[in-house]
Amino acid sequence: MEPFQLRSEAVVPYFFLDSWEREFPHLIAGMSIRDGESIKDPDRTNYALHVGSRPERIIQNRRRLAEELGVSFASWTCGEQVHGVNIREVTSMSRGKGSESAQSAFSETDGLLTQERDVLLTSFYADCVPLLFYSADIEMIGVAHAGWRGTVGEISPRMIREFVKRGAEKKEIRIAIGPSIGSCCYEVDEHVVHSLKHVLPDPFKVVLDSPKNNKWQVDLKEANKRLLLKEGLKEGQILVTGWCTGCHPDLFHSHRRDCGKTGRMVAFIGMGKG
Ligand SMILES: [Zn+2]
Repeated sequence: MEPFQLRSEAVVPYFFLDSWEREFPHLIAGMSIRDGESIKDPDRTNYALHVGSRPERIIQNRRRLAEELGVSFASWTCGEQVHGVNIREVTSMSRGKGSESAQSAFSETDGLLTQERDVLLTSFYADCVPLLFYSADIEMIGVAHAGWRGTVGEISPRMIREFVKRGAEKKEIRIAIGPSIGSCCYEVDEHVVHSLKHVLPDPFKVVLDSPKNNKWQVDLKEANKRLLLKEGLKEGQILVTGWCTGCHPDLFHSHRRDCGKTGRMVAFIGMGKG
């Protein structure tokens, strides 16, 4: 069953993780969507200050989504995404960084984690892979942004190691791999394939031959899943969406499909005050 379900009755519709919500009622986890009108007006459903033209609208979008999720806007926390592998821990002191300006975000940070309640970890997407993490034994949550560079930089296993370093049992960690570009829409050159083969020597199902010369189609969701399995996680700990951002202009921004002129969805995870 598709793990990411559309909460269509919400004032600000979004995808939520149905099975996580039932099992862990204090978790708030999912991803925003775009809508038909935002095709003409990308800022309408854009949550990223580094691509928007009107910061006040983006902040307003963030406030509305926070309200919809039942969390305070002061809890909204994000990093400056650079397709790197730096991971930072959010404390009660650093909660809220990046919420109102790109300059105040955690610099050069693509992974965030925290054990604090009332912190909404956020990161921004238009094709890259959102990874959400939760370990119930130490009540820790995380989010990581993985395009092909983050994937081959192994940000997903690095997140697992950060959780384990803080006392999590590897078998307790859950991961959800969210809506991102599918192999159907993601054609790459040889250097990407070469980098992938370096971390996944057996890239079965990850790299597919494309009908075009010297091009390959890559499944970044599957690549991240395989890196997590290689790190010692079991299949049952990993949820993988079937949604492709490139195939659904009515639901998702896609950097590739929209030729760079698009907004960003936000992936989020938080633990309520409860
Ligand atoms: Zn597609």
